[in-house]
Amino acid sequence: MRRSITRRDFLNGVALTVGAAIVPHPAYAAFEFQNDPEKSPSYYPPARTGMRGSHPGSFETAHKLRDGGFWDQVGKPVDTGESYDLVVVGGGISGLSAAHFFRKQAGSKARILILDNHDDFGGHAKRNEFHGSRFMLGYGGTYSIESPAPYSAVAKGLISELGIDVASYPKYVSKNLYPSLGLAPQIFFDKETFGADRLVVNPTPHAGGEMAGETASDTAWKTFMAEAPLSDRAKEDFDRLHHGNKDYLPGLSSNEKKARLARMSYATFLSDVVGVDASVVKLLRNLPQPLFGLGIDGVSAQDAWGLGLPGFTGMALDVAPGKGQNRDTIYNAEAEKYFFHFPDGNASIARMLVRQLIPGAIAGHSATDIVLARAKYARLDDPASPIRIRLNSTVVRVKHNGDPATAKDVEITYGRGGKAYTVRAAHCVLACWHVVIPYICEELPQQQQEALSSAAKVPLLYTNVALRNWTSLQKLRASSVYAPGGYHTFFNLDLPVSIGGYECPTQPEQPIVIHMMKTPCSPGKPARDQHRMGRIELFETTFETVEKNIREQLARTLGGGGFDPARDITAITVNRWPHGYAYEYNSLWDPFWLEGGVTPCEIARKPFGRIAIANADAAAYAYTDAAIDEAYRAVQEITKPQVAKAGKS
Ligand SMILES: Cc1cc2nc3c(=O)[nH]c(=O)nc-3n(C[C@H](O)[C@H](O)[C@H](O)COP(=O)(O)OP(=O)(O)OC[C@H]3O[C@@H](n4cnc5c(N)ncnc54)[C@H](O)[C@@H]3O)c2cc1C
Repeated sequence: MRRSITRRDFLNGVALTVGAAIVPHPAYAAFEFQNDPEKSPSYYPPARTGMRGSHPGSFETAHKLRDGGFWDQVGKPVDTGESYDLVVVGGGISGLSAAHFFRKQAGSKARILILDNHDDFGGHAKRNEFHGSRFMLGYGGTYSIESPAPYSAVAKGLISELGIDVASYPKYVSKNLYPSLGLAPQIFFDKETFGADRLVVNPTPHAGGEMAGETASDTAWKTFMAEAPLSDRAKEDFDRLHHGNKDYLPGLSSNEKKARLARMSYATFLSDVVGVDASVVKLLRNLPQPLFGLGIDGVSAQDAWGLGLPGFTGMALDVAPGKGQNRDTIYNAEAEKYFFHFPDGNASIARMLVRQLIPGAIAGHSATDIVLARAKYARLDDPASPIRIRLNSTVVRVKHNGDPATAKDVEITYGRGGKAYTVRAAHCVLACWHVVIPYICEELPQQQQEALSSAAKVPLLYTNVALRNWTSLQKLRASSVYAPGGYHTFFNLDLPVSIGGYECPTQPEQPIVIHMMKTPCSPGKPARDQHRMGRIELFETTFETVEKNIREQLARTLGGGGFDPARDITAITVNRWPHGYAYEYNSLWDPFWLEGGVTPCEIARKPFGRIAIANADAAAYAYTDAAIDEAYRAVQEITKPQVAKAGKS
């Protein structure tokens, strides 16, 4: 475990050397590009490994602004003299879509500047590249085009304008690859939680099995019952929970049952209502994490029912969603069909938007050639282009020049390289995280600021680990692993998609990327407290700590198949998202449907003078379509305020 990952260091070394070969001289380059790192020929963030997501350098300015001290350090802002028709704060899918919609309305000459604090564009839609013996892509955030509710006409329209043929997805995915090699979802029982380290086939489709698209078989069930390190009582309870037909809330109507289930956690339902053994609760405890960033203590029993978790078969619940049910847990057949996964996730959408906005920045013209096209970062902020993207730039102040009701423009100040700069714009769309807005836009009404502050995000860790091969997984017959007691609670072999010349690995002897997921939770606390504590945990955890945990976890889980972390791990990219999913209202903690009236996100997103507010937070909905829809609304509000106000947009 203590041996260094020599291959990874070697690969990083190669990446640096390759970059250096085309830079004139390191000392000269450091000087020449210190103010504009993006202009350096070696500037290529997707290939960076180590700590990504909210990477070092991306958040310090905002935190200094929050904690005080920013203005003392930077002094008087430098006036760039630049003026735009629109400045967009935030270069995620919402900000890029806002630029797209604004240009459509204002015309091709519209001058737009997009500012983002990260070293790459796309926000959560993040591309990870691995340049080893085989070129491999991974998604550092947004995984796919998918949403529990159907995409709106606006969002679908944008996807099709970009040339993405969602219906063609089955052509690109080798759905049967892993099953054809005998691989299936597994559960890793750890000895600290269950008394023994053991990898056992996962008999249920919910527990991490979704990646392989498999369902439970009788054989898997029998194997699980024989091998799981659970007591006989726990096994009986597990069986009863899945196959029983009992109504646990007899005498109530379907609606009355749903109302009870909406206010009771699934953990409480399992232990107090169904009465299962404590180890069954432990086994199921992390299942909602990929969607909610919370375990079963923080998710209502009604939402667990919506997710298809066990225990509800005999309860005669009407299929219609119950009051307060989270949108993530409502099945919709039309939405289910609308799915597309690029090897770098929805980073491909962000890259296609950038290519449309700044044609010279990324070559090509189709939704398939985008996959291998290399972005030219030096072209993003070109004075000759009407649309510019300025990275590594944290917006610290947005204010109207004069009375917001009559002002002709807005002044935007951003921090970059230790200095502050100002630009002016006729309009500004804040497509950044809502919690940031009260710090940068102090002129907003108090009630709106409070609503914006309540949108604190859900923290997540998306880790990509490049492996020399996956023979150990093949020996253990594992395509994915659910690890209730693990540091990362889920990991899986990359979804096998080949598209636009990119070929996914098909032989276990070939290198592959495995994707690992963790949500830092503090079970038993209210959802927002769990998320706040998780955010702190992620910011305080070093890359070295995550790496140590990855190596230990993979060695323990896959060691039986011959896995050796020092030999088999060739690179690690940890995408840390302390500010991850948009917060979605949760019936345990936010009785929004009982209170009536407007939800906080509706107050938060109100336009103010020449400023409009986008981002997925504006819909309290953690999906790409929300980011697009909210961008469209925000642009309507500044370009056609009367139409938007009348709700006709
Ligand atoms: C790990 C993860 C996985 C996801 N998977 C999926 C999925 O599979 N499918 C799906 O539909 N959705 C998914 N989502 C949700 C989806 O990514 C988002 O809804 C969508 O991409 C959000 O886009 P956005 O532009 O609203 O926000 P973001 O992508 O967060 O972009 C906002 C940008 O604004 C920047 N910003 C913030 N403050 C400032 C400032 N002061 N100055 C300058 N810039 C600033 C941020 O750093 C960020 O880059 C996922 C989200 C996460 C975190």
